[in-house]
Amino acid sequence: MKADIVTIFPDFFRGPLDFGITRRASEMGLVKIEVHDLRGFTHDRHRTVDDRPFGGGEGMVLKPEPIFECLAALQVSPREQRLAGAVKESVILLSAQGERLTQQVAAELAGLERMVLICGRYEGVDERVAGFLADRELSIGDYVLSGGELAAAVVIEAVTRLLPGAVGNEASTRQESFTARREPEAASSEDNGPDSTCGSGGLLDYPHYTRPAEFCGMAVPEVLINGNHQEIRCWRREQALEKTLRNRPDLLKGVELSKEDSQLLERIKRGVRF
Ligand code: SAH
Repeated sequence: MKADIVTIFPDFFRGPLDFGITRRASEMGLVKIEVHDLRGFTHDRHRTVDDRPFGGGEGMVLKPEPIFECLAALQVSPREQRLAGAVKESVILLSAQGERLTQQVAAELAGLERMVLICGRYEGVDERVAGFLADRELSIGDYVLSGGELAAAVVIEAVTRLLPGAVGNEASTRQESFTARREPEAASSEDNGPDSTCGSGGLLDYPHYTRPAEFCGMAVPEVLINGNHQEIRCWRREQALEKTLRNRPDLLKGVELSKEDSQLLERIKRGVRF
Protein backbone atom coordinates (compact mmCIF):
# COMPACT_ATOMS: atom_id res chain seq x y z
CA MET A 1 0.00 0.00 0.00
CA LYS A 2 1.07 3.53 -0.68
CA ALA A 3 0.18 6.16 1.92
CA ASP A 4 0.64 9.83 1.05
CA ILE A 5 0.40 12.40 3.80
CA VAL A 6 -0.28 16.04 2.96
CA THR A 7 0.75 18.37 5.79
CA ILE A 8 2.23 21.74 6.66
CA PHE A 9 4.43 19.96 9.25
CA PRO A 10 6.27 17.20 7.35
CA ASP A 11 8.87 16.85 10.12
CA PHE A 12 6.11 15.74 12.47
CA PHE A 13 6.27 12.30 10.90
CA ARG A 14 9.94 11.77 11.68
CA GLY A 15 9.36 9.47 14.57
CA PRO A 16 5.83 8.23 15.12
CA LEU A 17 5.89 5.91 12.13
CA ASP A 18 9.49 4.74 12.60
CA PHE A 19 8.82 2.15 15.29
CA GLY A 20 7.52 -1.35 15.72
CA ILE A 21 5.15 -2.87 13.21
CA THR A 22 4.83 0.26 11.05
CA ARG A 23 8.58 0.49 10.63
CA ARG A 24 8.87 -3.21 9.90
CA ALA A 25 6.04 -3.02 7.36
CA SER A 26 7.84 -0.13 5.64
CA GLU A 27 11.11 -2.03 5.57
CA MET A 28 9.36 -5.09 4.18
CA GLY A 29 7.81 -2.94 1.45
CA LEU A 30 4.24 -3.65 2.60
CA VAL A 31 3.61 0.05 3.00
CA LYS A 32 5.33 3.01 1.41
CA ILE A 33 4.72 6.23 3.29
CA GLU A 34 5.44 9.56 1.61
CA VAL A 35 5.07 12.91 3.29
CA HIS A 36 4.30 15.98 1.18
CA ASP A 37 4.90 19.53 2.38
CA LEU A 38 1.86 21.60 1.51
CA ARG A 39 3.98 24.74 1.41
CA GLY A 40 5.75 23.29 -1.60
CA PHE A 41 2.54 23.90 -3.54
CA THR A 42 2.31 27.64 -2.87
CA HIS A 43 3.61 30.34 -5.18
CA ASP A 44 4.08 33.41 -3.01
CA ARG A 45 7.15 34.55 -1.15
CA HIS A 46 5.65 33.68 2.23
CA ARG A 47 4.47 30.25 1.09
CA THR A 48 1.00 31.05 2.40
CA VAL A 49 -1.25 28.08 3.09
CA ASP A 50 -3.97 29.79 5.14
CA ASP A 51 -6.30 32.76 5.01
CA ARG A 52 -9.05 34.47 7.00
CA PRO A 53 -12.50 32.90 7.00
CA PHE A 54 -15.22 34.36 4.82
CA GLY A 55 -18.06 35.61 6.98
CA GLY A 56 -15.71 36.51 9.80
CA GLY A 57 -14.96 34.60 12.96
CA GLU A 58 -12.01 33.14 14.75
CA GLY A 59 -8.73 31.90 13.35
CA MET A 60 -7.46 30.94 9.95
CA VAL A 61 -8.50 28.37 7.39
CA LEU A 62 -6.29 26.23 5.12
CA LYS A 63 -6.66 27.52 1.56
CA PRO A 64 -7.92 25.17 -1.13
CA GLU A 65 -5.42 25.96 -3.93
CA PRO A 66 -2.25 24.35 -2.49
CA ILE A 67 -4.21 21.24 -1.48
CA PHE A 68 -5.83 20.80 -4.92
CA GLU A 69 -2.46 21.45 -6.57
CA CYS A 70 -0.71 18.93 -4.34
CA LEU A 71 -3.33 16.28 -5.13
CA ALA A 72 -2.96 16.95 -8.86
CA ALA A 73 0.80 16.44 -8.52
CA LEU A 74 0.23 13.14 -6.71
CA GLN A 75 -1.66 11.88 -9.74
CA VAL A 76 -4.34 10.01 -7.86
CA SER A 77 -7.09 8.55 -10.02
CA PRO A 78 -10.11 10.80 -10.73
CA ARG A 79 -12.59 11.16 -7.87
CA GLU A 80 -15.47 9.58 -9.82
CA GLN A 81 -13.41 6.41 -10.31
CA ARG A 82 -12.44 6.35 -6.66
CA LEU A 83 -16.00 6.83 -5.46
CA ALA A 84 -17.29 4.20 -7.87
CA GLY A 85 -14.75 1.74 -6.47
CA ALA A 86 -13.17 1.34 -9.90
CA VAL A 87 -9.76 1.96 -8.32
CA LYS A 88 -8.48 1.00 -4.90
CA GLU A 89 -7.52 4.54 -3.95
CA SER A 90 -8.98 6.92 -1.44
CA VAL A 91 -8.44 10.54 -0.55
CA ILE A 92 -9.19 11.15 3.10
CA LEU A 93 -9.52 14.44 4.93
CA LEU A 94 -8.79 14.16 8.64
CA SER A 95 -11.49 16.13 10.41
CA ALA A 96 -13.20 16.26 13.80
CA GLN A 97 -16.44 16.37 11.79
CA GLY A 98 -15.64 13.14 9.98
CA GLU A 99 -17.04 9.66 10.20
CA ARG A 100 -15.43 7.94 13.19
CA LEU A 101 -12.42 5.70 12.58
CA THR A 102 -13.27 2.21 13.80
CA GLN A 103 -11.56 -1.15 13.41
CA GLN A 104 -14.04 -1.87 10.65
CA VAL A 105 -13.07 1.29 8.76
CA ALA A 106 -9.39 0.44 9.28
CA ALA A 107 -9.99 -3.03 7.81
CA GLU A 108 -11.75 -1.44 4.83
CA LEU A 109 -8.83 0.93 4.26
CA ALA A 110 -6.37 -1.97 4.50
CA GLY A 111 -7.88 -3.24 1.23
CA LEU A 112 -6.74 -0.11 -0.63
CA GLU A 113 -3.69 0.17 -2.84
CA ARG A 114 -3.29 3.83 -2.06
CA MET A 115 -4.62 6.34 0.45
CA VAL A 116 -3.94 10.03 0.60
CA LEU A 117 -4.36 11.64 4.01
CA ILE A 118 -4.90 15.39 4.15
CA CYS A 119 -4.07 16.97 7.49
CA GLY A 120 -5.95 20.10 8.47
CA ARG A 121 -4.72 22.84 10.82
CA TYR A 122 -6.00 26.05 12.42
CA GLU A 123 -9.81 26.31 12.27
CA GLY A 124 -9.88 23.65 9.60
CA VAL A 125 -9.78 23.28 5.84
CA ASP A 126 -11.73 25.17 3.17
CA GLU A 127 -14.89 23.07 2.78
CA ARG A 128 -14.36 22.66 -0.97
CA VAL A 129 -11.68 20.11 -0.13
CA ALA A 130 -14.26 17.94 1.66
CA GLY A 131 -16.87 18.63 -1.00
CA PHE A 132 -14.94 18.16 -4.22
CA LEU A 133 -11.54 16.62 -3.55
CA ALA A 134 -11.71 14.15 -0.66
CA ASP A 135 -13.73 10.94 -0.80
CA ARG A 136 -14.44 10.90 2.89
CA GLU A 137 -13.76 12.75 6.13
CA LEU A 138 -12.38 10.69 9.01
CA SER A 139 -12.26 11.56 12.70
CA ILE A 140 -10.23 9.56 15.19
CA GLY A 141 -12.59 10.38 18.05
CA ASP A 142 -14.95 12.88 19.58
CA TYR A 143 -12.41 15.47 20.64
CA VAL A 144 -10.65 18.30 18.86
CA LEU A 145 -6.95 18.11 18.03
CA SER A 146 -4.90 21.04 16.78
CA GLY A 147 -4.07 19.31 13.53
CA GLY A 148 -4.66 16.22 11.45
CA GLU A 149 -1.08 14.93 11.74
CA LEU A 150 -1.58 12.79 14.85
CA ALA A 151 -4.84 11.53 13.39
CA ALA A 152 -3.10 10.58 10.12
CA ALA A 153 -0.44 8.69 12.09
CA VAL A 154 -3.20 6.87 13.96
CA VAL A 155 -4.93 5.90 10.71
CA ILE A 156 -1.67 4.65 9.20
CA GLU A 157 -0.77 2.61 12.26
CA ALA A 158 -4.23 1.06 12.56
CA VAL A 159 -4.31 0.19 8.85
CA THR A 160 -0.71 -0.97 8.43
CA ARG A 161 -0.94 -3.64 11.12
CA LEU A 162 -3.85 -5.17 9.21
CA LEU A 163 -1.86 -5.58 5.99
CA PRO A 164 -1.15 -9.26 5.39
CA GLY A 165 2.34 -10.06 6.63
CA ALA A 166 2.73 -6.96 8.81
CA VAL A 167 2.14 -8.73 12.10
CA GLY A 168 4.10 -11.93 12.62
CA ASN A 169 1.10 -13.94 13.76
CA GLU A 170 -1.88 -12.90 11.64
CA ALA A 171 -4.36 -14.62 13.91
CA SER A 172 -3.47 -12.09 16.59
CA THR A 173 -4.91 -9.16 14.61
CA ARG A 174 -8.11 -11.12 14.01
CA GLN A 175 -8.64 -11.72 17.69
CA GLU A 176 -8.24 -8.22 19.00
CA SER A 177 -10.67 -5.75 20.50
CA PHE A 178 -13.45 -4.58 18.15
CA THR A 179 -12.69 -7.14 15.45
CA ALA A 180 -16.17 -7.95 14.28
CA ARG A 181 -15.90 -11.48 12.95
CA ARG A 182 -15.51 -14.03 15.69
CA GLU A 183 -13.03 -16.74 14.85
CA PRO A 184 -14.84 -20.00 14.18
CA GLU A 185 -14.75 -22.26 17.20
CA ALA A 186 -11.77 -24.42 16.26
CA ALA A 187 -13.70 -27.50 17.29
CA SER A 188 -13.31 -28.51 20.87
CA SER A 189 -10.18 -30.41 20.06
CA GLU A 190 -7.81 -29.89 22.93
CA ASP A 191 -4.69 -29.86 20.77
CA ASN A 192 -5.61 -26.49 19.26
CA GLY A 193 -5.18 -24.87 22.63
CA PRO A 194 -7.12 -21.82 23.64
CA ASP A 195 -5.24 -19.27 21.55
CA SER A 196 -7.13 -19.48 18.29
CA THR A 197 -10.61 -19.68 19.72
CA CYS A 198 -11.09 -16.57 21.77
CA GLY A 199 -11.75 -14.10 18.95
CA SER A 200 -13.25 -10.86 20.20
CA GLY A 201 -16.28 -10.98 17.89
CA GLY A 202 -16.63 -7.22 18.39
CA LEU A 203 -16.01 -7.27 22.15
CA LEU A 204 -13.03 -5.74 23.91
CA ASP A 205 -10.03 -8.02 24.21
CA TYR A 206 -9.66 -10.31 27.22
CA PRO A 207 -6.94 -9.53 29.83
CA HIS A 208 -3.40 -10.74 29.21
CA TYR A 209 -0.84 -11.76 31.83
CA THR A 210 2.78 -12.84 31.71
CA ARG A 211 5.40 -13.92 34.21
CA PRO A 212 5.92 -13.61 37.14
CA ALA A 213 2.87 -15.55 38.31
CA GLU A 214 2.93 -13.49 41.47
CA PHE A 215 4.16 -9.93 41.62
CA CYS A 216 4.12 -7.85 44.82
CA GLY A 217 1.25 -9.91 46.16
CA MET A 218 -0.75 -9.68 42.91
CA ALA A 219 -1.37 -13.13 41.50
CA VAL A 220 -2.20 -14.15 37.95
CA PRO A 221 -5.65 -15.80 37.79
CA GLU A 222 -5.28 -19.47 38.68
CA VAL A 223 -7.23 -20.64 35.63
CA LEU A 224 -4.46 -19.43 33.26
CA ILE A 225 -1.86 -21.52 35.01
CA ASN A 226 -3.67 -24.84 35.28
CA GLY A 227 -3.52 -25.50 31.52
CA ASN A 228 -7.16 -26.56 31.02
CA HIS A 229 -7.85 -25.13 27.56
CA GLN A 230 -11.60 -25.31 27.81
CA GLU A 231 -11.61 -23.45 31.13
CA ILE A 232 -9.20 -20.85 29.78
CA ARG A 233 -11.43 -20.26 26.75
CA CYS A 234 -14.47 -19.82 28.92
CA TRP A 235 -12.66 -17.52 31.35
CA ARG A 236 -11.32 -15.31 28.56
CA ARG A 237 -14.74 -14.98 26.98
CA GLU A 238 -16.29 -14.14 30.33
CA GLN A 239 -13.59 -11.53 31.00
CA ALA A 240 -14.07 -9.99 27.57
CA LEU A 241 -17.80 -9.79 28.17
CA GLU A 242 -17.30 -8.33 31.64
CA LYS A 243 -14.84 -5.69 30.48
CA THR A 244 -17.03 -4.71 27.56
CA LEU A 245 -20.05 -4.41 29.85
CA ARG A 246 -18.05 -2.26 32.26
CA ASN A 247 -16.12 -0.01 29.85
CA ARG A 248 -18.04 -0.06 26.56
CA PRO A 249 -21.60 -1.34 27.00
CA ASP A 250 -22.46 0.32 23.66
CA LEU A 251 -20.43 -2.35 21.85
CA LEU A 252 -22.64 -5.16 23.15
CA LYS A 253 -25.49 -3.98 20.92
CA GLY A 254 -23.52 -4.82 17.80
CA VAL A 255 -22.23 -8.18 18.97
CA GLU A 256 -23.68 -11.54 18.06
CA LEU A 257 -23.86 -13.41 21.34
CA SER A 258 -23.95 -17.18 21.50
CA LYS A 259 -26.23 -18.91 23.98
CA GLU A 260 -23.21 -19.49 26.19
CA ASP A 261 -22.26 -15.78 25.93
CA SER A 262 -25.75 -14.71 27.01
CA GLN A 263 -25.61 -17.04 29.98
CA LEU A 264 -22.17 -15.70 30.94
CA LEU A 265 -23.43 -12.15 30.58
CA GLU A 266 -26.43 -12.86 32.79
CA ARG A 267 -24.15 -14.29 35.47
CA ILE A 268 -21.83 -11.27 35.20
CA LYS A 269 -24.77 -8.89 35.58
CA ARG A 270 -25.99 -10.82 38.60
CA GLY A 271 -22.48 -10.58 40.04
CA VAL A 272 -21.93 -14.33 40.14
CA ARG A 273 -18.21 -15.07 40.15
CA PHE A 274 -16.70 -18.15 38.60
N1 SAH B 1 -12.90 23.87 13.83
C1 SAH B 1 -12.83 22.43 13.75
C2 SAH B 1 -11.54 21.90 14.41
C3 SAH B 1 -10.31 22.21 13.65
S1 SAH B 1 -8.92 21.48 14.36
C4 SAH B 1 -14.03 21.83 14.46
O1 SAH B 1 -14.51 22.42 15.43
O2 SAH B 1 -14.47 20.75 14.06
C5 SAH B 1 -7.76 21.54 13.04
C6 SAH B 1 -7.53 20.26 12.27
O3 SAH B 1 -7.19 19.21 13.15
C7 SAH B 1 -8.74 19.73 11.50
O4 SAH B 1 -8.86 20.37 10.25
C8 SAH B 1 -8.42 18.26 11.36
O5 SAH B 1 -7.59 18.01 10.25
C9 SAH B 1 -7.64 17.97 12.64
N2 SAH B 1 -8.46 17.32 13.66
C10 SAH B 1 -8.92 17.87 14.80
N3 SAH B 1 -9.63 16.98 15.52
C11 SAH B 1 -9.60 15.83 14.83
C12 SAH B 1 -10.15 14.54 15.05
N4 SAH B 1 -10.87 14.25 16.12
N5 SAH B 1 -9.93 13.59 14.11
C13 SAH B 1 -9.22 13.85 13.00
N6 SAH B 1 -8.68 15.05 12.74
C14 SAH B 1 -8.86 16.03 13.63
